[in-house]
Amino acid sequence: MHINGYEINLSEEELDYILSNQTRNIELIGPDFEAYKSLFEYDKKALSRLICASKIIDEVALIQDHPLNLLLKDGLKEASKTSEYAKKAYQLFQSFHGVSGFNGICPEPIEIFKNVKPYKGKNFYPTDLSVREFHQILIRMFEAGEIEDIQKILSSRTMVRRSKSGLRAIDYTSFFAPQFSQIANELELAAYHTTEEDLKEYLSWQAQAFLQNNEEMDSLADKHWALLQSGNIEFTVSRENYEDELTGTVFENDVLKTLIEQHNIEVNSKDTLGCRVGLINHEGTELILKSKDSLPFLAELMPYCDRYTQNIKTENNQTMVDVDLMVLSGDYAFARGAITTAQNLPNDDKLSVKTGGGRRNVYHRQVRFSTDKMRAQKLLDALLEKSFHAYFKEETMHFFVIGHENGHSLGPDSSYKSALGIYAHIIEENKADVISVAFMEDVVKTFHTYTFDELKQIYTTWIVSLFLKAKPVLSKPHRMAELIEFNYLLAHNVISFNGENKLKIDFSLVNKTMKSLLSEIIEVQLSKSPEKAKAFISKWGQWSDVSEHIANVQKSLGVKPYIKIITKF
Ligand SMILES: [Zn+2]
Repeated sequence: MHINGYEINLSEEELDYILSNQTRNIELIGPDFEAYKSLFEYDKKALSRLICASKIIDEVALIQDHPLNLLLKDGLKEASKTSEYAKKAYQLFQSFHGVSGFNGICPEPIEIFKNVKPYKGKNFYPTDLSVREFHQILIRMFEAGEIEDIQKILSSRTMVRRSKSGLRAIDYTSFFAPQFSQIANELELAAYHTTEEDLKEYLSWQAQAFLQNNEEMDSLADKHWALLQSGNIEFTVSRENYEDELTGTVFENDVLKTLIEQHNIEVNSKDTLGCRVGLINHEGTELILKSKDSLPFLAELMPYCDRYTQNIKTENNQTMVDVDLMVLSGDYAFARGAITTAQNLPNDDKLSVKTGGGRRNVYHRQVRFSTDKMRAQKLLDALLEKSFHAYFKEETMHFFVIGHENGHSLGPDSSYKSALGIYAHIIEENKADVISVAFMEDVVKTFHTYTFDELKQIYTTWIVSLFLKAKPVLSKPHRMAELIEFNYLLAHNVISFNGENKLKIDFSLVNKTMKSLLSEIIEVQLSKSPEKAKAFISKWGQWSDVSEHIANVQKSLGVKPYIKIITKF
C-alpha cells in the first residue's frame, strides 16, 4: 500500500503483532479526574488554550524530526478513513511520533515506510549532508573568517540549510514563524484566563520568547518557569537536544575541534521542542520536596568538588513537582523504545542556567504507574535469588529517580559536559544514576528520608532495573549508562550469580563501589576529552554473555517496547 507515493514497509500482520502484543498503554488523566473537576472555570479555560499550544508545538517537533513526517502523517490519517491497514500504520506512526523509531530492542530503527530513513542530523540539517562534508564546510568557513555564521550553525536554536557558498542557519523564530506566533497567541490567552499569578507571569514571558530572535528571552522565560512550585496547573515547553546526532560530531575532527576552541565557539546540539500539560499533585510533590534540603550537603560530597562550581551550591534554587499528565506532545511523545518518567530542566546548555537561573524537576505520575506487576514477578523468578525477592518494591524506583534528577544538578558545569561531544549524554546520564545510588546511604543517615530497609529495597529494585532487554545503541544514553553500571557492579562483586545462575547482591559493597564509579565518571567530565569518554564507555559498556542471557530471559517473558499514550483531552 502506498501513502503519498511511499510504500508501507510493514505488513498488516506485522502491524497487528506490534499493536496487540508489543504495545503498552500509558493512560493520561481526563476531564473526569477529581482535581481537574475542582478547578476554577478560568483555569480550565487556560488549560484548553495550553492544550491548543501543545498541538502546535507537536507540529514543530514533527518538522524538526523528519522532512516527511507531516506529509506522511496527513496521508496516513486520510487513508485510515477507508483502510484498516493504513489505520494500523497510523497508530504506529502516532506511537513513534514519526516515520521511524527505535523500539529499544532492535539495533536498527523500525521504518514505517520503505526507504524513508531517519537522518543523523534529523531535519535540522540538509538531509544529504554527510558528516564529512559538514566538517569540511565548517573548516572552509573558519578559513574565510565567517565566525558569526559558524556560531549560528552550531547553536541549539537554528535550522541549517544549504546556501550558495555552504551552509546558513535560520533561527527557529524565523523558520517556524507561523507556528510560533500561533503558540504565542495561545499562551497569551491562557495567561489572560488563569487565576494563578506566577503562571500568568511565566506565560507572558514564554509567549515573548516564541516571538523574538533572542536567547535572552528564552532565558527570562526559563527563569520564571523554574520558580513554579505552588499552583495547580503544570505547563512546560521543553527544549532538549538528545535527538540531533550530527552537531556533536564536530569534536571528532581534530582540525575542527582546535578551530572551535581557538575561536571560543559554543557548540550545542539542536533542540527538539516538547510540551507537557497537566495538574500538579500536591501530595506527591510533598514527598519529592523532602529531598531538596539534601542537595547542598550532597554538593560537598561530590568527587573533586573543589575543581568546579556547582549550580546548586551557590543557591538552592530548585523547584520540584509531581504531575498528573493531561497531554504530552512533541519530544515528550516520541515514544521510541522509552518514555520519560521525570525530568530536570532547563539543561546545562541553556542561558538561564548559566546565568544563575533555577531548575525545575517534574515527575510524571501516569508514566510511573504504568508497570506490569505480573511480568516483574516472573523476571525475579528467573533471575534473582529468592532471598532478595522481598526487597524488590517497584514503588521505590521513584526514590531512585528522585536521586537521579537531583544528580543532574550536581557536578561539573556545562562547559565540561558538552566538550565530550557525542558521548556527553551517556556520561551525564551515567553520572545522574550513580549519584542517586552512591549517596543514598548518606541521605538515609543524615536526613532519614528513607529507612534502612527501604535503602535495601531501592538498591535491589534499581539493580533489577539494570536487566536490559537488548544491547543498547550509543544513541540511547540511558540504556548505555545502565549497561555501564551493571558491568561495574559485576566486576566489583556487588552483584554475582549463584550456582543456579540467579543474581545475589552484597549490600555492604554498594556504597563504596558506586562512589568509586562516580569518581571515574567525574574524572571523564573534567578531562573534557571525547577520547577519554569513548575509552571509558567501551571499557564498561561491553555487551557480555551475562547481558545476553538476561536479554534472552527478558525476551522470553515478552517485551512491550512500543508505547501508546492515551490522551483524553
Ligand atoms: Zn537523566
